[in-house]
Amino acid sequence: MRAGEDDVRPPTDLRTDIPHPARMYDYFLGGKDNFPADREAAERALAISPEFRTGAQANRGFLQRAVRQVTGQGVRQFLDIGTGIPTAGSTHQIAAEVSPDVRVAYLDNDPIVLVHGRALLAGAGRGTATVIHADLREPEKILANAEVREVLDFDQPIALMLVAILHFVADDQDPVGIVRRLVDALPSGSRLVLSHATGDFATPEQVKQARALYSNSAAPLVPRSREQVAAFFEGLELEEPGLVTPPLWRPDAPLKEGDDRAPGWAAVGIKP
Ligand code: SAH
Repeated sequence: MRAGEDDVRPPTDLRTDIPHPARMYDYFLGGKDNFPADREAAERALAISPEFRTGAQANRGFLQRAVRQVTGQGVRQFLDIGTGIPTAGSTHQIAAEVSPDVRVAYLDNDPIVLVHGRALLAGAGRGTATVIHADLREPEKILANAEVREVLDFDQPIALMLVAILHFVADDQDPVGIVRRLVDALPSGSRLVLSHATGDFATPEQVKQARALYSNSAAPLVPRSREQVAAFFEGLELEEPGLVTPPLWRPDAPLKEGDDRAPGWAAVGIKP
């Protein structure tokens, strides 16, 4: 779906009876695109830890600073997998502030993201952005997707955005292998912009409760340790300051108490 195109919506079943991570994330960020089951699950998450909200906000800040950084370094193309619902401050808007000629392929497996694709792209104005229904767990299909190939030139550097998505991919689905297959398809100079939920600073009981909560949602939650998240960057050169909690990645405002214990890990890698 492109900005300005007629709104031809595919028939979708949003499964509003089941909490969906995309809609819970929207709720944490103060959005309105969520349903009672999402709000109830999100409130239960906030009862486990208020960091579900502050962590989502910090993650969004990382995404925006990272997009600004890589666009400023000359990258003009984005493969943003796990788009999410938020309409303000999304990848194509932040990137277009730096350069008008950016091209963004947004991919998500939640039909609600497609439903809101038009709102997401409204006012895109500059650059080219498309929202495509696809699943991260099928990297070959993503790489062969005709719409992806139409928007992105795989001979020029691409920023692969895997921001707050890999913690929804279970170990038996080989998340490290998925990332490797995608990165292998990108030319030298491409970037991996990645953040991931962690339980490194939580109690074992909080981690257990959070996992149990998401096990009743549309996707499991798999928090990973710093070492496990570092494995996604194998073979890449990390931008300064390396793999840190999201608020500590090139902050543009004074840090707050506890930012160094925020519930995630984030980094930007460059493909040599
Ligand atoms: N990247 C955005 C949104 C994160 S929310 C940000 O950081 O602000 C996570 C998103 O990943 C949700 O929209 C969810 O629907 C999507 N997602 C989860 N598992 C996925 C999968 N296997 N394939 C594609 N998208 C997925």
